[in-house]
Amino acid sequence: MMTAPVSFLDKLFDQGLLYDSGVDGLYGRSAVFEDVISRFEQLALSLGKDEISEAMVFPPGMPVPDFETSGYMKNFPQLAGTVHSFCGNDHDHMGLIQCMAAGEDWTKNQKITDIALTPAACYPLYPILARRGNLPEEGAYVALQSYCFRHEPSKEPTRMQMFRQREYVRVGTQEQTIAFRETWKRRGGEIMDLLQLPHEVDVANDPFFGRAGRMMGASQREQELKFEMLVPVNDGAGPTACMSFNYHMDNFGKAWGITLSDGSPAHTACVGFGLERLALALFRHHGLDTAQWPEGVRKALWG
Ligand code: ATP
Ligand code: MG
Repeated sequence: MMTAPVSFLDKLFDQGLLYDSGVDGLYGRSAVFEDVISRFEQLALSLGKDEISEAMVFPPGMPVPDFETSGYMKNFPQLAGTVHSFCGNDHDHMGLIQCMAAGEDWTKNQKITDIALTPAACYPLYPILARRGNLPEEGAYVALQSYCFRHEPSKEPTRMQMFRQREYVRVGTQEQTIAFRETWKRRGGEIMDLLQLPHEVDVANDPFFGRAGRMMGASQREQELKFEMLVPVNDGAGPTACMSFNYHMDNFGKAWGITLSDGSPAHTACVGFGLERLALALFRHHGLDTAQWPEGVRKALWG
């Protein structure tokens, strides 16, 4: 009898690197998996340490008004998540308990809170910068990390619903932000060489929603606003974006009111490292046992 080949995701569960929750894209992480991620973060942080002006870590939620300002519901409503809580009285509560017991919809008194799930790690930064007034001459250069949520359930282990992005964000003039992105495209390749992962950089676009969205995606590509660092990771699928290099022009500067020293809208750019994806790429190419990873890779991560 033929047995179905074991998927990469099942191997990760079997090895105890990820813990299945029953929901696609929602997994627990083992200590070994987390160790790889934190070692990768140290490596990425070491490359930008002389340039950053600040480092921040955000919780996985952001204020709803700032989420609205981001335009995420206009561009990617299909991916967004909002936090709802029970806002009823005793009577409503009784109804809720009864519905739940009967296996019926119990969510009708769940109302939106002040919090949306963060879809991209750099979003919570922009309102903070805007509140500070005009940027100094040298702009801002921030290292940050956040859990992100995107409603894109998948059997591909690299496409999670809750995952972390580590980012460097550059806020300043057009020249400063474009130079930043070029630097990180190069450094991204250097990191991949150190980690001995096959990779290539290619132009990309975001999955803008609907018909109008297709045009936005085409225009983003044409203007080369987004590049991805692609690595083959999944069974029988094209390569996966493990890093992205984005230039937003002055769109976020205008949306959030972030201004340069002369009061004009700031330009922004970010490099995002998909932390789980990078760990998965390492496990895919070097095996599920980190002790067996090539000497050079172990040295790059563990010193
Ligand atoms: P993709 O094209 O694969 O959907 P993306 O263009 O949506 O990726 P970005 O929005 O640029 O990705 O996010 C920055 C980085 O975050 C990506 O390069 C990737 O490494 C990581 N990332 C994005 N979506 C996910 C996800 N669903 N699960 C895990 N990591 C992700
Ligand atoms: Mg995506």
